[in-house]
Amino acid sequence: MQWEQLTADDFARAVAESGVCLLPMGVLERHSTHLPLGTDMLNSHRIACLAAEREPAIVFPQWYFGQIYEARCFPGTVTIAPTLLLSLVEAVLDEIARNGLHKIIIVNGHGGNNNLLGFLAQCSLWQQKPYALYLAGGLSPERQAAWKAITESEFHGHACECETSVTLANVPELVHMERVPQEPALPLGRMAHVQPSFAGISWYANHPEHYAGDARTASAEKGRRLVQLRVDQLVELIAAVKADQATPALESEFFQREASLRQ
Ligand SMILES: [Zn+2]
Repeated sequence: MQWEQLTADDFARAVAESGVCLLPMGVLERHSTHLPLGTDMLNSHRIACLAAEREPAIVFPQWYFGQIYEARCFPGTVTIAPTLLLSLVEAVLDEIARNGLHKIIIVNGHGGNNNLLGFLAQCSLWQQKPYALYLAGGLSPERQAAWKAITESEFHGHACECETSVTLANVPELVHMERVPQEPALPLGRMAHVQPSFAGISWYANHPEHYAGDARTASAEKGRRLVQLRVDQLVELIAAVKADQATPALESEFFQREASLRQ
């Protein structure tokens, strides 16, 4: 069920029936020379919608605000100030809960959001919220093995065989296979002299064209199988979240103990 497609009355019924909201997150950023700016947004939303068809949940509309400062040097990137970004996501989560959805699963489609979302999840212990927040994780070991068996290239990362295949399966009309670079994009190692370390410029140092991997062997058929693995994983997670009583109970216990310190 897509939030923006429901009438207000149907929305209220859907809230009562499922109680779970999926918030698919992407960004607007360069994806090499052959994929659209909205690749992450389009793919995460599509995967969320497919999963919600099997295990009912309300899917928040396509979302494109996230951490993507490392692409500010490319046309079409949209970034907003760090503190505003965090406040914005928190405000939207609050608004989802105000509408009666007290379990929220973030379905992230953009690797650059990982630190932000991990911190956001930790922030849920700063102040008690009327919702439980879950970040959808990766694939199970079995599905990871299946994923590896589908793909041919060894190195993946961005606009690669995987992401290009998934995009071919989801929005084929937006993929320009004739523009795929003729050479794979391996890390340039321009910060290899200061390892192990992480810096804001690390991604750019390795992948200055926002391409990591080899998309030449991408196909829609591979993409359909990869999407299926992600959807199957998410369907299981939605069901588990619906049944989950422990997270809200543990949060209540935590905040009761925290409040007792002040008495
Ligand atoms: Zn992407």
